[in-house]
Amino acid sequence: MITCEGLNKYFGELHVLKDVSIKVKQGEVLCILGPSGSGKSTFIRTLNGIESINSGTITVDQKKLTHKQKDIDAIRKETGMVFQQFNLFPHMTIKQNIMLSPAVVRKWSKVKAEQKAESLLKRVGIYEQANKFPSQLSGGQQQRVAIARALAMEPKVMLFDEPTSALDPEMIKEVLTVIKELAQTGITMLVVTHEMNFAREVADRVVLFDEGCIVEMGTPENLFERPQHERTKLFLSKIL
Ligand code: ATP
Ligand code: MG
Repeated sequence: MITCEGLNKYFGELHVLKDVSIKVKQGEVLCILGPSGSGKSTFIRTLNGIESINSGTITVDQKKLTHKQKDIDAIRKETGMVFQQFNLFPHMTIKQNIMLSPAVVRKWSKVKAEQKAESLLKRVGIYEQANKFPSQLSGGQQQRVAIARALAMEPKVMLFDEPTSALDPEMIKEVLTVIKELAQTGITMLVVTHEMNFAREVADRVVLFDEGCIVEMGTPENLFERPQHERTKLFLSKIL
């Protein structure tokens, strides 16, 4: 579903992604771990063209991501993204937030977009909030709206960048539960997270980034129980 080969990314002099190559299969859930500044966000943002790359190739669902806007648009249609900050439109209701992209990008009718929004709101458990504004919702509820909004486009891939890091502890679980249920639907997912229990439970594979490189990649069982690299052992010893 996703193939990256030899990705390199610089911010000025700073070499942030160093020859990163990863293949993610259809339906796979890949959790991305690593210390702050290791390039996790940059990596995940290159996959839908929010960040450009200096060299390497990215293919999503057999579409090659080039610098051409047409290719970037095609890939963005297939990749939903959820950020640490929910980034909802404050002047729109919850339902309007969800309906916007399908109506504009997919050119769905208002009725169709509304039906989709309502069914997604039920799925993430906040149907009663449909006509409220984002500021009237808790962080956990807002993040569930952000997930519903991404899903409204019926993406083939979902990218999550620390979706629970900005949440109060008591709201983390409700958001992780929604993501977990989503993982069971067979959609391809990449999740940058510090939630080790979540990664252990939900990921098919886990990858550890450090200083822009992939240190180690494997099943959660292997990576957590039998890490091969000193760097992985050190990272795990600090967080578990
Ligand atoms: P965190 O866990 O803190 O979110 P991360 O692994 O997501 O970290 P990135 O945000 O990908 O790390 O950043 C990788 C490096 O690139 C860091 O040194 C960061 O300061 C730098 N960086 C990120 N975005 C930019 C930018 N837009 N301009 C310049 N440098 C940047
Ligand atoms: Mg980050």
